[in-house]
Amino acid sequence: MGVTVRAIRLSDFALDGGAMHGVVPKVLWSAVHAADERNRIALAARALLVDLPACGARLLVDTGLGAAWGPKQREIYAIAAPARDAPSALREAGVDPETITHVLLTHLHWDHAGGTVLRRGGELDLAFPRAEHIAGRRCLEHARRPSDKDAGSFRQADLELLAARARLRLWETGEPLVPGIEGRECSGHCPGMIVPLVRERDDGPPLAVAADLIPTRSHLRHNWVMAYDNEPLLSLREKRALLEELAAIGGGVLLYHDPEVEAAWCRSGPDGAPRLVPGRLDGTALD
Ligand SMILES: [Zn+2]
Repeated sequence: MGVTVRAIRLSDFALDGGAMHGVVPKVLWSAVHAADERNRIALAARALLVDLPACGARLLVDTGLGAAWGPKQREIYAIAAPARDAPSALREAGVDPETITHVLLTHLHWDHAGGTVLRRGGELDLAFPRAEHIAGRRCLEHARRPSDKDAGSFRQADLELLAARARLRLWETGEPLVPGIEGRECSGHCPGMIVPLVRERDDGPPLAVAADLIPTRSHLRHNWVMAYDNEPLLSLREKRALLEELAAIGGGVLLYHDPEVEAAWCRSGPDGAPRLVPGRLDGTALD
């Protein structure tokens, strides 16, 4: 098979710690994520690079924030300076961005899809012009007409460029995603979010990219869900279903937003029930 994965930290930024934790009191979440003087917590945008040599594909799951941000947004979201576009971040990690054949966007919020574009000579352009881009059909429909609740999480100019200029495939449940990668739709965070699963790896157990269903290690707790979610009760059901599925195959999840921990793995808890514990991408748990 030869399937291998690698985590690549594309961006560093910060969001309001309360918004990241919904109804969970600060006295609890701040024990995991220290807040700054403006109540923000440090976050990463950690993409997954998947090499699929059997089909000659190299897949990038999510593209981070990118660099097309003005001073006001950089200040609000503490976007680390200098902001790097996704190809530059890949190059710094020793990956030639020209080798990316597929870009899979779990969803189209700007902290996951902002790096799909960059500025070339002042003009907005595609960051990976040669790659096939894959996004959820429902996700794009929602993104073009978002709910009032999450309208601020999309950049319409990026979406217009993506729809007009990218090689874009809109995916629906039941359709093949990429050979070697399974897709499931989780819509509690936003409609049509794709949670891809790399079931067969040469370098570790099965790994899902849970995106904003389980963004950081604090969200490994079942009922800790974000205030950003459009349907938090659906998120809870989807977390439960994903956990049960991963427990059955000994799998885990990439933690896209956690600034310190890159993955979490299913283990039996003291009561025998499965739970996710912080770990490394190779399948080992942190001490
Ligand atoms: Zn996010």
